[in-house]
Amino acid sequence: MKKHTTFSIQVGEVNIGGGYPISIQSMTNTKTRDVEKTLCQIGELHKAGCDLVRVALPSKEDVCFFEKIVKYSPIPVIADIHFDFTLAIDAISAGANKIRINPGNIGSNDKLEKIVKKAKDNGVPIRVGINSGSIEKKLLKQYGGPTTEALVESAVNNVELIKNMGYDNVVVSLKASDVKTTINAYRYFSKKLNNPLHLGVTEAGTFLKGSIKNAIGIGSLLADGIGDTIRVSLTGPPVDEIKVGKLILQSLGLKDGINVISCPTCSRTTIDVQELAQRVEEEFGGLNKNLTIAVMGCSVNGPGEAREADIGIAGGNDKALIFRNGKVIKSVKEIDLLKTLLEEINNG
Ligand code: SF4
Repeated sequence: MKKHTTFSIQVGEVNIGGGYPISIQSMTNTKTRDVEKTLCQIGELHKAGCDLVRVALPSKEDVCFFEKIVKYSPIPVIADIHFDFTLAIDAISAGANKIRINPGNIGSNDKLEKIVKKAKDNGVPIRVGINSGSIEKKLLKQYGGPTTEALVESAVNNVELIKNMGYDNVVVSLKASDVKTTINAYRYFSKKLNNPLHLGVTEAGTFLKGSIKNAIGIGSLLADGIGDTIRVSLTGPPVDEIKVGKLILQSLGLKDGINVISCPTCSRTTIDVQELAQRVEEEFGGLNKNLTIAVMGCSVNGPGEAREADIGIAGGNDKALIFRNGKVIKSVKEIDLLKTLLEEINNG
């Protein structure tokens, strides 16, 4: 895949765009004023592999709590701001590493300019977050709804507006809940401007449906070489967004990780492939190491089908086979399978 060239911005210690590794984001869903719970959730996200976290700043009363969250967060914090431009200014004063705004709901260019000045004075990047649900009325009327063209025109207009205010430290997202509209909008935008791109499909739904929509949307764009940071949007625990985000990147070879391949099973299956594959994923899913592990149901096709695997297992008649690089190295009783496989994986 040829990477779409973007310039880079820096958010705390994390670089976005310009060929830096693709970062993974999530957003807390605790009350911002509950600092302890929010920091606990951020800690969990960080442990799971989250690089950046977004926290909503809904009111003036939340600013002091937000400040504490930024101070103690192990990863850069992005303030999510809607409607009230003074909250964006407060967030930057409170130490936000980036702010996310939708200029369309900030109210006026004067207000936007005040945000931009504050961001510029403090070197804080802005994400222009265009969503299909909040495109300017004028564009909705012109294009007959939140179409690809409306999303892109809104994003380009707002980026140019901020640029004309003397600031270019801007990352862009163009999210729709419709997967095809999202893909087309990012593709179209990437032909026009080279700002770093934050990818996501908004309001994608609950775990299974949302994961599929995000994998298709984000995955298609990444396969095109488009995208610098991702947020998988799911209704559920934010940590699931990180797990799915990592798998999307790993599936495209954009992040190190364990690749467990397992056969779909059939009438030849002699071992519990599902149980074994799940256990291997649970034990080793968090390892940041490139290793392909195969779990195959029979010795007829198992080792051969998993030739690319570094290590694997295949069901046999009374014993199962452990293999490396497609060659059988051990034969073990079914009862010892998991233990032996785990030992072999640990031995590299
Ligand atoms: Fe069936 Fe064996 Fe193929 Fe698994 S590896 S699907 S058990 S033939």
